[in-house]
Amino acid sequence: MQKRVLSGMQPSGKPHLGNYLGAMKPHIELQNEFECFYFIANYHALTTVRDQKKLAEMTQELAIDYLALGIDPKKTVFFKQSDIPEVTELTWILSTITPFGLLERAHAWKDAIAKGKKNPTAGLFIYPVLMASDILAYQSDLVPVGKDQKQHIEIARDIALTFNSTYGETFKLPQDLIDKNVETILGTDGVHKMSKSYGNTVDIFADEAEFSKQVMSMVTDPARIKRTDIGHPEICNVFALQKIFNLPKIKEIERKCREGKLGCVENKKFLCETIFTELKNAREKRIELRKNLDYIDKVLNTGAKKARKVATETLDRVKRHTGL
Ligand code: SF4
Repeated sequence: MQKRVLSGMQPSGKPHLGNYLGAMKPHIELQNEFECFYFIANYHALTTVRDQKKLAEMTQELAIDYLALGIDPKKTVFFKQSDIPEVTELTWILSTITPFGLLERAHAWKDAIAKGKKNPTAGLFIYPVLMASDILAYQSDLVPVGKDQKQHIEIARDIALTFNSTYGETFKLPQDLIDKNVETILGTDGVHKMSKSYGNTVDIFADEAEFSKQVMSMVTDPARIKRTDIGHPEICNVFALQKIFNLPKIKEIERKCREGKLGCVENKKFLCETIFTELKNAREKRIELRKNLDYIDKVLNTGAKKARKVATETLDRVKRHTGL
């Protein structure tokens, strides 16, 4: 039997290269090996987005982005988190066995408090329980995460273990699936992780002019003023991206940079063209999908039916085991 992979993506606006390389592309590749359940985490997004129109739009756009990039609804169960009420019901049940201290130690909560977040909500505090519920409701085997998100899976495992030892074997224990090839993608500033909050993104579906402008604004080796200056590719973020997008040419790029025979502008133009070519089909498909929103709804509704069937079976079991 194929192992089941689960992942949730928060709708947060335009996807950037960091999202694409760190999550979207690996998610799509996993479809060929595993049974994948992917959902749009619009309940999670509610902890930060307070605009009804914006949340609905971002949810729809994320569905379009993923389908354009290659999610295949015939292989993958693709749905909206809010279409599965069993998960929120399970969240309450799991919260009754989750120690307060475990949630206090969650990185996202600790960061929010350390940064002096005003009026932190109960939703933000119990966010890891909802996440555990998402993972456990579908009896997931594997959850793809970045190295910095491993704690989410540890919390879900802790909660599952506590439940199983209290009420009897109910949940499968999930494992993290960390893609060792996925490195942190730095933003155009070459310093911080690519993120909307730093304003350093390259937006994969921006129009050609904007996309090119963002790539061309990338900071490179500061020692290179003239084309003939000796470069240090190991400290250059454009070089790091070339390793991903132009691996067969990487030795030549490195040599030419070190010998002062390659201009940064030239290298960035080459990178820009390569990424654009890789995304060409997705960009065209995206335009077509936007003209057919009924199809998007149909895909999400069909996915929700399949996901709900599994979540209902789990919740029935949980209710039996707890005496509800
Ligand atoms: S030539 Fe390329 S690798 Fe070298 S510093 Fe410039 S952008 Fe970076």
